[in-house]
Amino acid sequence: MPDALHRRIDDKTEDLVALTQELVRIPTVNPPGEAYTDCAEALGRRLAARGFEVGYHRAEGAVADSARFPRTNVVARIEGKRPGPCVHFNGHIDVVPAGLGWSFDPFGGELRDGRIYGRGTCDMKGGLAAAVIAVEALLEAEPDWPGAIEISGTVDEESGGYGGVGYLAERGFFSKPQVDHVIIPEPLNVDRVCLGHRGVWWAEIETLGRTAHGSMPFLGDCAVRHMAAFLARVESELYPRLAAKRTEMPVVPEGARQSTLNLNALHGGLAEGFDGLPSPMVPDSCRLVIDRRFLIEEDLEEVKQEVVGLLEDLKAGRPGFDYRLREVMSFLPTMTEADAPVVRAISAGIEAVLGRPAQPVVSPGTYDQKHVVRIGHLKDCIAYGPGILDLAHQPDEYIVVADMVASAKVMAGATLALLKGAAG
Ligand SMILES: [Zn+2]
Repeated sequence: MPDALHRRIDDKTEDLVALTQELVRIPTVNPPGEAYTDCAEALGRRLAARGFEVGYHRAEGAVADSARFPRTNVVARIEGKRPGPCVHFNGHIDVVPAGLGWSFDPFGGELRDGRIYGRGTCDMKGGLAAAVIAVEALLEAEPDWPGAIEISGTVDEESGGYGGVGYLAERGFFSKPQVDHVIIPEPLNVDRVCLGHRGVWWAEIETLGRTAHGSMPFLGDCAVRHMAAFLARVESELYPRLAAKRTEMPVVPEGARQSTLNLNALHGGLAEGFDGLPSPMVPDSCRLVIDRRFLIEEDLEEVKQEVVGLLEDLKAGRPGFDYRLREVMSFLPTMTEADAPVVRAISAGIEAVLGRPAQPVVSPGTYDQKHVVRIGHLKDCIAYGPGILDLAHQPDEYIVVADMVASAKVMAGATLALLKGAAG
């Protein structure tokens, strides 16, 4: 029977390409959250035509939700012949802005040499399309299946997911008894099972000073110099400390198998973006945005304390040093057990379809699994999808059609195993 299912998916290759192109041509750019409703409805219409019950859920009141940019999510569900578990495929429909450097139309969805090019092909409309085709093939090939299957298209993953999976999870969409297993076709490569992700802490640090005429800086107190003093301590003390923290999490790429810190933005003094000549001012404020990624072995409080400790140390020892710290957001690390049912089902599928063992990995950055686990309290969740991780958010992003077909076979086989309890 799996062979028949695989053949059916092979026969749907053109349909898979067309669906991916259709989704990519809807420019769901985030920010600001363009055309979400169009994309949700395109997915909803297709699944409704195949017997799914389709609901649209606008995250009213969520961050950035407005009449002009409604945060429209779609959830589709189909029931099997008899009771059983529910397998849910979740794909985010938002994409990051195209940016510069493209040699293809970023929203053209051009097919060339077995690849589809465009923003969101890899991350992650190609993965979502593969999940749709996998489920459609399964429904045709196996009329007598138990349980339920859900497919959702959700928004705002690229900006934290509060208006998407976070919103739905708050309302029970990612909890038992509605859902038992969740597969998120994010681009982690066709032969990898992604068990979870590292944690993240974003914060803004502001050093404070006192303005004065720039020709007599000794009459003021330069906030940029205070920030430079902090950054010197970050370089000499914090970076070596972070580099020494290694994790047991199988994070890819290898460089992310330690704690990391990105200095995301830095600004002090006169506003940027003016055309005229600067006026001579001593900066009274300097702001730094930091993006700290942490490991399952670390504690969020300890992560914060490392930074606060340096700042407090400077406050105690450096004349005039004062600061403010504003926390922007944080998510804890999450990692599904390696022998969880959904991990076993997808791993078996990879081995059957690709003829090699699945590689368990952990993502360096977070994705919507955090909401499924933290809000939905559903532990049986992974990311598995056909895209090539390194291509996400790049110019000339593409998806390999053969990878989409292979991943659809993996997803279809895994779904069947989970529904029948063979992987449980
Ligand atoms: Zn993504």
